[in-house]
Amino acid sequence: MIDSVTDLTPTIRGVTLRLVNPPQLRFTAGQFVNVEIPGTDSVRAFSMANAPSENSKIELVVKSFPGGQFSEYLRHAEKGQLVRVFGPLGSLRVRLSYRKVLMIASGSGLAPLLSMLADLTQRKDRRPVTVFFGARIPEELYYLDRLNALRDLGPQVAVVPVVEEANQAWTGETGHVTDVIARRMGGLRGYDAYVCGPPSIVADARELVVRLGVREANVYFDALVPTGVNPGPAVSP
Ligand SMILES: Cc1cc2nc3c(=O)[nH]c(=O)nc-3n(C[C@H](O)[C@H](O)[C@H](O)COP(=O)(O)OP(=O)(O)OC[C@H]3O[C@@H](n4cnc5c(N)ncnc54)[C@H](O)[C@@H]3O)c2cc1C
Repeated sequence: MIDSVTDLTPTIRGVTLRLVNPPQLRFTAGQFVNVEIPGTDSVRAFSMANAPSENSKIELVVKSFPGGQFSEYLRHAEKGQLVRVFGPLGSLRVRLSYRKVLMIASGSGLAPLLSMLADLTQRKDRRPVTVFFGARIPEELYYLDRLNALRDLGPQVAVVPVVEEANQAWTGETGHVTDVIARRMGGLRGYDAYVCGPPSIVADARELVVRLGVREANVYFDALVPTGVNPGPAVSP
């Protein structure tokens, strides 16, 4: 059931669904659900942004596409409307390891990584985690408060927001997220990398982290390809 729809940025909405039947969904941080567009038999994939411990609700981060079927539905969605959800699906999840964690999110791709970071923090996992969160402009960054609250819970968590085009107020990192990672991180030997965002950014980030020393088998990713289009190699095995 739709609980709330809010504008997180000019092009990204936060959607909270309250689970009704069944009243809970057990999932692993990083997974997604297929959401049926009401009145149709089409579904769209969206990753859970909340931690699995909050299992009576689903929080989604939804990028709006002009004319997109689900995007259009959300413009008029109202609290209390019933929406069918299928899942959980997908194999993106934090792997057990002793390596440090690098997370690279772009746009609505922050959703699964936020869930994974919240889960790691709740489990008191002590692995160092560095999160790079990229957007085109500062107004397209969102949930920095949540990221910073998770960072403040554990000194091993670092958060680096990155924008491609700064405004006058912006004091953070500017550039392509992969260029900023290359500049700040140097070598990445001994890291696991988790990547989520639009396909082109996922491809660039995968190539970069492997070049900087992450073993290819230790790169895990979801590319946010439009659900209705043949996705190709959108997810890591
Ligand atoms: C495993 C998985 C997880 C996903 N998780 C998320 C998530 O957490 N948040 C999120 O916002 N999206 C996510 N996506 C992508 C999401 O499912 C699609 O963007 C969604 O289908 C768009 O729905 P729509 O009905 O609004 O647009 P559609 O009706 O599907 O498309 C309308 C138009 O917009 C274009 N379009 C749609 N999506 C994209 C896109 N991603 N990039 C470029 N052009 C696009 C289409 O080509 C089409 O021209 C995920 C995809 C996969 C495969």
